[in-house]
Amino acid sequence: MLDKLEEQSPDALLALIKLFNADDRDDKIDLGVGVYRTKDGDTPVFDAIKGAERRLVETQDSKSYLGPEGDMRFVGGLIPHVFADAEPADGRMDGMQTPGGTGAVRLALALAKQAGVTRVLMGTPSWPNHAQILADLDLELVGFDHANADGSANMDALRNALSSADGHAAVLLHGCCHNPTGVDYTHAEWDEIAALLADGAVLPIIDIAYQGLGDGMDEDAYGLRTVTNAVDELLVAYSCDKNFGLYRDRVGAFYVITGSEAATKRAISNAAALARANWSMPPDHGGAAVRVILEDAALTQQWLDEVADMRSRIRRVRARLAEAGTAGSVDLAPLGRQKGMFAMLPVSKDQVQQLREDHGVYMAGSGRINVAGLTMQNIDTFTDALAKVTG
Ligand code: PMP
Repeated sequence: MLDKLEEQSPDALLALIKLFNADDRDDKIDLGVGVYRTKDGDTPVFDAIKGAERRLVETQDSKSYLGPEGDMRFVGGLIPHVFADAEPADGRMDGMQTPGGTGAVRLALALAKQAGVTRVLMGTPSWPNHAQILADLDLELVGFDHANADGSANMDALRNALSSADGHAAVLLHGCCHNPTGVDYTHAEWDEIAALLADGAVLPIIDIAYQGLGDGMDEDAYGLRTVTNAVDELLVAYSCDKNFGLYRDRVGAFYVITGSEAATKRAISNAAALARANWSMPPDHGGAAVRVILEDAALTQQWLDEVADMRSRIRRVRARLAEAGTAGSVDLAPLGRQKGMFAMLPVSKDQVQQLREDHGVYMAGSGRINVAGLTMQNIDTFTDALAKVTG
């Protein structure tokens, strides 16, 4: 039976890592994989996480099972940072821990399907796993252009998608730091989106995987909070893997908001059943470390300071790229206005290959770059290579 399975193409970014590691050029630049890097090119464990892990080692007295909802003090501890004053009252919101943001996205879409959703509106391009999860769940993807050529969000496309959606549709929105384009909605655009969603015709799902890496913890949650205030029903997928640097520990949370405490209870019972069937319960360690941080004022401040350092480095690199103006045919100015770790460059597949082979610059075939892979030392090498290849 198993010999009938067809070969699947490997994850393109993982294949790129292999190529990068095998390249012995000293000045090679990795803009492929989506992890934050310091000015020295490292992806270290946060000091706040190290502090929390030391406490966990000292105090944890059991690793016995938790339920499918995971560590509810972790789930609750995030709420003031994610929802703040927008936290729904009267038991209208509940949540659970998930294996990474990916687990939360999976759970949100599976629950939406269980509630009757058959198609999902989504701006494209998007994080490739969104489409993979939709396909795996047999949900129809209704794509619309996320960004305009000038690097702003395509609001007309979103308006049209929402107004022409017929019954049983959800819309999947990135809360901030859009992956892969870096093109976020402005606050005024979020105000309009929240008003458009207020009638409840389309179920909103917000995936927020980079809070704090754009303009600030509160600023990056503006859209999520504004939508939360405007609608009765909302599903939220949250990742701690970037803003706590926990990647492989797989730390995420899922929140469901409905119009009543009773409906929320029923929704969470469905989510718990889906979790049990998928992964039984989430891994504990990373979420426990986040919980220790969030329950301690000094560790919380240390964590927020570390996020602020990441954010300002990303913003400095973006500002430098924008200052460079153009590189060959590529206008870098929009990168100064965009948010988070990612940007899409208008380069062809051939140009991506040439950048890699002739200049040691590694990026996704789509032209997505991780701006955190750039440093003040290698930024000129990068823009020179881009100018040569596209000029
Ligand atoms: N959503 C988006 C938009 C992402 O970019 C990512 C990470 N690449 C995730 C969700 C999931 O993150 P993780 O599963 O690593 O927490």
